[in-house]
Amino acid sequence: MNAIEDFIRDIPDFPKQGILFKDIAPLLQNPKGVSLCLDALVQLIGDQKIDKVVGIESRGFFFATLLAQKLNAGFIPVRKPGKLPFKTLSQSYALEYGEDALEIHLDAIKKGEKILIHDDVLATGGTAEAVCKLVEKLGGDIVQCNFIMQLNFLNGKEKIKQYEVKSVLEY
Ligand code: AMP
Repeated sequence: MNAIEDFIRDIPDFPKQGILFKDIAPLLQNPKGVSLCLDALVQLIGDQKIDKVVGIESRGFFFATLLAQKLNAGFIPVRKPGKLPFKTLSQSYALEYGEDALEIHLDAIKKGEKILIHDDVLATGGTAEAVCKLVEKLGGDIVQCNFIMQLNFLNGKEKIKQYEVKSVLEY
């Protein structure tokens, strides 16, 4: 039987020189792989109650929607600027060169709701940190940030260390 890591493809030097891109396309193509990965993500949460799952654009959306369905929770997309049609809250964050921003709908979270944040990869943690700020500004209670993979050598966990951070795979 295949393990989840067998469905992750390493692409050297994408999107630029020196980055080893962790490609989940082979995983998404395989229903057994998706099932294994979804079960592993659900296990990370244990019996904690979740009201909403926040997925980070765009590769975070795939498993965040599946997780939401499995946990009987709502799904919330966090998107790049200008993509969400309703009123939004925006959070900027630093990139290696310059900065970027992420947005969430203002009515996405009710005060005190239990929130799971999900993305495919935790790298430097800048993205997840920005999403945590958005969720907290709307009054959400972050139960866990979970990822398919975390790249330990980039120390992203440090940026969101006040939260429970869990991943299926660690590199
Ligand atoms: P960061 O803000 O550095 O933690 O980057 C996280 C975001 O960038 C996630 O949405 C990932 O999808 C993407 N990402 C960063 N590094 C990689 C990588 N080596 N392979 C695949 N995706 C990555």
